[in-house]
Amino acid sequence: MERKFNGAARLVAAVLSAALLGLAGIAVYQLRSSADAAANSLTLSPDLFQGETHAAYLVAQQHPDLLAQLDCYCGCEQHEGHKNLLDCFRSNHGATCATCTGEAVTAGQLYENGTPVEQIRGILRQRYANGG
Ligand SMILES: [Zn+2]
Repeated sequence: MERKFNGAARLVAAVLSAALLGLAGIAVYQLRSSADAAANSLTLSPDLFQGETHAAYLVAQQHPDLLAQLDCYCGCEQHEGHKNLLDCFRSNHGATCATCTGEAVTAGQLYENGTPVEQIRGILRQRYANGG
């Protein structure tokens, strides 16, 4: 009986601390994304482009906080000093690069389907990190 109680208490403690960690994570995430959104709203207008490129710039315009949390795998981080995928859409770099465009469109679709950012990041890495 006593052993059982201890086990239950330990379980409650574990669940509680997991919940606390989760809450802290959400708070940090929200702080980060609102700061990013405020700092990064200047991307080129989607109307300058057509087709897939238009769609990619639209994602950048609508979800800057999403792209700011994703990496670009086209090599621009080394060559152009870009820090994240959003930077690719501040200039016409994004229009000249199939990797940037593909990543943004894929990310936008996943995001709109409710995929968590961490998972989107993993999918992009898998799809683009070694190929493009
Ligand atoms: Zn890029």
